[in-house]
Amino acid sequence: TFYLPPEEWREPYALEGQEARHLVKVLRARAGDLIRLLDGRGREGTFRITATEKQRVALTLEVLVEHPAPSGSTVLALGWAKSVRRGWLLEKAVELEAGGVWLWQADRSQSHVPEDIKESWEGQMIAGAKQSVNPWLPELRTIPEGVEGLVALAPEFDRTLILWEGQSPSALLSPAMLGGNGRTLFVVGPEGGFSDREVRVLTEGGFTPVSLGRRILRWETAALLCLGLDWWHREL
Ligand code: SAM
Repeated sequence: TFYLPPEEWREPYALEGQEARHLVKVLRARAGDLIRLLDGRGREGTFRITATEKQRVALTLEVLVEHPAPSGSTVLALGWAKSVRRGWLLEKAVELEAGGVWLWQADRSQSHVPEDIKESWEGQMIAGAKQSVNPWLPELRTIPEGVEGLVALAPEFDRTLILWEGQSPSALLSPAMLGGNGRTLFVVGPEGGFSDREVRVLTEGGFTPVSLGRRILRWETAALLCLGLDWWHREL
């Protein structure tokens, strides 16, 4: 499975650069072979290779499937923290069909959330889409206004939940809060956790604090656990 950006999805179809090199050099594709392409916006095409060069593979479209956008969707809002695992988490979020991954500026973020996240992280999301053959890439955006920005966006959602390590373990994330066709926003804190102010602003803004149990999980464990549970409930 390969990725062709939506703006390049037109005749004459061709894969160029790294994708073309990988196809020709590593996978030894030849004229006549069939390959699958995704555009990250719902299109999945079966293409026949008509010619191969080192940096360019010419293609003709054989079958096009346009997948509708998922009806319910889940957004993961992660407190910004510099982390080597961020790209890894984005890849997993695509595999688990997140509708969006937002990076919000937290009181305990050690630096400002960067502006050019798309360029830095899109490659990893495309890897997740190719791996899982997911035709929809999640929306990747930053919320530099922090929790106030999240509260302003809350009306777009049917459920807004804070995964808060300070919540009593008995207030566990429950099946009733997961799945269905509604839109869910999960807010995960940065490595240092939420400040008291952030928890106050979010709860006053109608968000519900929930626990993931008595252990303190790393942010990426917490994020993947809620995405995985939510995915499972949607599929049931
Ligand atoms: N403030 C904590 C500390 O330093 O002791 C750690 C924060 S934790 C590493 C990062 C984020 O993961 C939290 O802000 C929260 O969103 C989520 N998280 C971790 N464990 C959790 C739990 N048991 N229940 C709910 N959320 C949890």
